[in-house]
Amino acid sequence: MKNRGWGISRSLDRPLTLEDTYPCPICERGHLNSLALMESMGCDRCGHLFTLGDPPLDQCLQVMGSPQPLLWHWVGSRWRLLPQGQAGGDRGLHWGNGLLWGLGLGLVGLPTAIVGLGCYCFPLLPDAPLAWFPWVWLGLTFCAHGSWFVLGLVEYYQVPRYVSFKLWLQQQFSLSLFFS
Ligand SMILES: [Zn+2]
Repeated sequence: MKNRGWGISRSLDRPLTLEDTYPCPICERGHLNSLALMESMGCDRCGHLFTLGDPPLDQCLQVMGSPQPLLWHWVGSRWRLLPQGQAGGDRGLHWGNGLLWGLGLGLVGLPTAIVGLGCYCFPLLPDAPLAWFPWVWLGLTFCAHGSWFVLGLVEYYQVPRYVSFKLWLQQQFSLSLFFS
């Protein structure tokens, strides 16, 4: 079961305060504790810092130092990610997001379209050796550029499973260095 062994109450009327401990909404495995002399909380596992929202977002937590103003609402037992509109993002940020999405999709679509156009305009004879190769190359082009796009997306939005996987990789890498 998720969050087993946290020792954290699941009561629905448990408010969000700096005096309590909560699961981290980003890595989902660390604990959030308040930082001394600061109105913020830090995760003991992934190191992300968060600030508590002001009313009416006083039961919300916002990540610090992220290009995205990600905002989570505490519902008493777990976090719920709020849509961008409620996260206080300004118009410039929305334009920036749109531009990044457009750029990302262009970086996937344009090379794929160029290779696809080559396959379509200069087809090989069906019985030619390696006649299948241009279409495989087209698929590889799409997959390679698409995977970079997806990687950029999960890094930008700090998707919890991706953050956990990154932490696990870091842990494995530091362990292998230690034992080598
Ligand atoms: Zn964390």
